[in-house]
Amino acid sequence: MTSSPTLTFNDGNTIPQLGYGVWQVEDDVAEKVVFQAFQAGFRHIDTAKIYGNESGVGRAIASSGLSPEEIFITTKLWNADQGYESTLAAFEESLERLGLESLDLYLIHWLQPKQDKYVDTWKALIELQKRGRVKSIGVSNFTVEGVQRVIDETGVVPAINQVELHPFFNQAELREFNASKGILTQAWSPLGQGGELLEDATITAIADKHGATPAQVVIAWHLAIGNVVIPKSVTESRIRENYDALNVALDASDVEAINGLDRTAAGTGRIGPDPAVSDFA
Ligand code: NAD
Repeated sequence: MTSSPTLTFNDGNTIPQLGYGVWQVEDDVAEKVVFQAFQAGFRHIDTAKIYGNESGVGRAIASSGLSPEEIFITTKLWNADQGYESTLAAFEESLERLGLESLDLYLIHWLQPKQDKYVDTWKALIELQKRGRVKSIGVSNFTVEGVQRVIDETGVVPAINQVELHPFFNQAELREFNASKGILTQAWSPLGQGGELLEDATITAIADKHGATPAQVVIAWHLAIGNVVIPKSVTESRIRENYDALNVALDASDVEAINGLDRTAAGTGRIGPDPAVSDFA
């Protein structure tokens, strides 16, 4: 079986570039589909406290027969838990639900600029890493300004920034900033949540050329431009299909053509909330 390439964080640890995400998956379903994802070859799972399925992910890990060294697990601190002490407590609760002794990657889920607790929250993640509770620490839905501020105030550079990123919203500017700081970029909703993007004529033409599916082409594009990518599916055949995108090699001209689909300038690319202005409970 082809294994995912790994990318190296600024702290020296590595992350499988292709992972599997479980947003909007019920806890009992998560147990089943994460197990299927492991069978398909995935070794990197992306969950979060707010998804309500850390326990199901934990049960899949326990029944997989895989050792902690063979897998890479990410979870995220929810917005209501931001703040130093509350972060330390929420982390332990997440770990318990996952049934793990330590975690590979912990992320602050959203910036929450009006709440403005993210620097203290980041300090708690630094402490958790120092204590050996988590190997790597990063952020999600952070703007350039938010990332710069945690670096300025703590001197610790996040390992990764997980943000909305797909061909209609390709985050060229943020990717360049992240790279300049040695921060990996991770793409959420990498398939654009499976709608219009997978029917786009450019994508389908490239898929036909390579004998691949549209979803595989989009995943191959993420891999080609250096993103960590975590597509979601609860359909076993699609879970396998998405993993098998590792075998699709795009030409430079394909990557250029997909880069050209970006709608940021038109203001219509983004699907989810804008982290610069969104605070939610
Ligand atoms: P996605 O872009 O991965 O799209 C998933 C949808 O695409 C599926 O529900 C299905 O409808 C379709 N799909 C999947 N595989 C397909 C295939 N092979 N062929 C055709 N259609 C297919 O969307 P997502 O779930 O929003 O994002 C992926 C992961 O990113 C999440 O599960 C979660 O782990 C993470 N995420 C993080 C945040 C955050 O705030 N940090 C936000 C959203 C998602």
